This record gives sequence, structure tokens and C-alpha cells, in this order.
Amino acid sequence: ENDSSTKHVVLVTGGTGLVGKGIKYVVENGEKRENESWVFLSSKDADLTDYESTKAVFAKHKPTHVIHLAAKVGGLYGNLRANLEFFRQNMTINDNVLQNAYQNGAQKVVSCLSTCIFPDKTSYPINETMLHKGPPHDSNYGYSYAKRMIDVMNRGYSQDCDCKYTSVIPCNIFGPHDNYNIEDGHVLPGLMHKIYKAKLEGKPLTVWGTGKPLRQFIYSRDLARLMIWTLREYNEPEPIILSVGEEDEISIRNAAEKVAKAMNFTKELIFDTEKADGQYKKTADNSKLRKYLPDFKFTPIDVALKETCDWFVDNYEIARK
Ligand code: NDP
Repeated sequence: ENDSSTKHVVLVTGGTGLVGKGIKYVVENGEKRENESWVFLSSKDADLTDYESTKAVFAKHKPTHVIHLAAKVGGLYGNLRANLEFFRQNMTINDNVLQNAYQNGAQKVVSCLSTCIFPDKTSYPINETMLHKGPPHDSNYGYSYAKRMIDVMNRGYSQDCDCKYTSVIPCNIFGPHDNYNIEDGHVLPGLMHKIYKAKLEGKPLTVWGTGKPLRQFIYSRDLARLMIWTLREYNEPEPIILSVGEEDEISIRNAAEKVAKAMNFTKELIFDTEKADGQYKKTADNSKLRKYLPDFKFTPIDVALKETCDWFVDNYEIARK
């Protein structure tokens, strides 16, 4: 597989999103190999909910390898309103992508699951073997079951078709090119945008909730390096959790303080305890990853946050918000 005389075409679906841009950055900054060409797709290149459109884009590029990131994603409220739509669109995208990858002879596909699709009632830390052991949280069951079915399809493609189709399970991701929407985005980009505004207005920052819940955050560029490793070296069909360790779990309060520091925000942080906290923790176990890559160095979170905040401030006009 690493024979440098074989030409590899790597197709990245969802290539214009948070993770896709992280992979593009890492590929363009030293990771690209001589024999590889990389193609990053947006929804303008193909609507992956449409079979014919998916078929055409795969026929055009004939990928030998695929990183499948495209998904209908949304915050808590988006999901609550439309579980059926999240289920159907993601099922369709995933079936179209895996089937067309197979029909064009792609030998390897790495798809992206998420720690938020794990069983709602579970023990911690969660690991790869617990994915199907209990229903997901009610609020996003459509998205979660559609993601879990990727694992079912990977098993089928591996057993019945002799393909190496697998998946990764990242924890909370942050980095440049995130969705910085305050109402319906994730916690870190939302905080960055709120601090940006509070600075302009000279006001203190109100953080939703008590600040006590604990989370693991991975930098999109670290995740990118790990996904490229997965594509090249990881040969199990079963998923692998790509997360920082349990010791790197931090509170929302600590995260807010770090973002404030990265943005030179000097006013007070107020915690609005009337607002819901969400789950107290969702600790993921990264020992499978550590078994393969004991020496992998994650970017220190302060450095990664600084790069992300600087990117957001410098690109405020074009940032998704
Ligand atoms: P983004 O929302 O940043 O990007 C989504 C990407 O998917 C975009 O490139 C978008 O294209 C593309 N896309 C969406 N719908 C379609 C469609 N119908 N046809 C073609 N392309 C489409 O997502 P992320 O980068 O944050 O997420 C990437 C993957 O990682 C997803 O599978 C997500 O579930 C998973 N994940 C994300 C986490 C996070 O914290 N963000 C955590 C764990 C997992 P366009 O730019 O043209 O709209």
C-alpha cells in the first residue's frame, strides 16, 4: 500500500468544513506524498444526498482512497426539530458515498462518527466496543442512528466485499473554519464569537450554564494528522476513538477562561446558572489510539486555541456565523 510508485487519489467529502479544512492545511504543509493527489469536495461539487450527483463526482475523480466527512450536522435545537430529516439525509449521504466508493474500486474509506452518538445511559469512560449498546440521547437520535449505521456498512463492505472501510470517533473538535454561530453552534466557537462581541461592546461575558461540565477537545489539525494516519495505516473495520486523553478533559469554565486569555479579554466572566448544562461528562477512552501511537503529541490546548482565535479575528468577515 505504501509503494510510492502506485498513484493514489484521495477524495475528501465535506472538504470545505471544519475538519476538511484542517486536513487540507496538514496535507499542504508537509503531509502530502509524491504519489498522492488530494481532492477536497464541497456541496457545490456534488450534492451527496443525490445518487446521480454522487455517482458523477466519483466517476470523475476515481478515488483509490476516501475520507468521508460530509454530513448534515446541527446543534441541539436543529436536531430536536428534525430528527427524521437528519436520519434520512445522513443515511442517504452515507449509502451513496460508500456504494460509489466501492463501485469505483476505492480500497480504503475512513468515515467520521462522533462521541455524541454513544448510548445515553452508559458507564465512563466510553470506548469503541460500547457504540451499539443502548439507545442514543433522544434529542439527536436521527443523526446518531444514521452515524451508527456507517459502522454496520463498514462491517459489510469488509466482510462481503473485501474492502478496508472503517470509521473514526472524534470528541469535540475546534479550529479555524468552524461554525461560529452563537445560537446553534458548538461551545468553543460560540464562546469565541461572544467574546469578540463583548470586547467590541466593552461588556463582561455571560457563559451559559454553571461552567462545571467536563469535555475533551481536539484541535482540527491534530485530528487531521490522525485521520491521515488512519487512512494510511489503520486496518481494522471497527472504529477508533480519536481524542485527547482522560487527563486532558477540562471544565467549560476553564475552557472559557482559556478562550478569554487567547483573545486578550480582560472583563469578567459571568456564569448564567439558569441555562441548562447538558451532560456533566462524556469522557472517552483513547487507549486504543495510544496502543497504536504511544508517542503522538497533541498540540497544547492554549496554543491551538490561540491559533483558532487569531484565525477567527483575522477572518471575521468570511467566517461562518
Ligand atoms: P462542517 O459543518 O464544518 O462541514 C460539513 C461539510 O459537509 C461541508 O464541507 C459541507 O459542504 C458538506 N456537506 C454537507 N451536506 C452536504 C451534501 N448534501 N452534499 C455534499 N456535501 C455536503 O462539519 P465538520 O467539519 O464539523 O464535521 C465533519 C464530520 O465530523 C461530520 O461527519 C461530523 O458529523 C463529524 N464530527 C464533528 C464534530 C465537531 O465537533 N464539529 C464532532 C464529532 C464528529 P459545504 O461547505 O459546501 O456546505
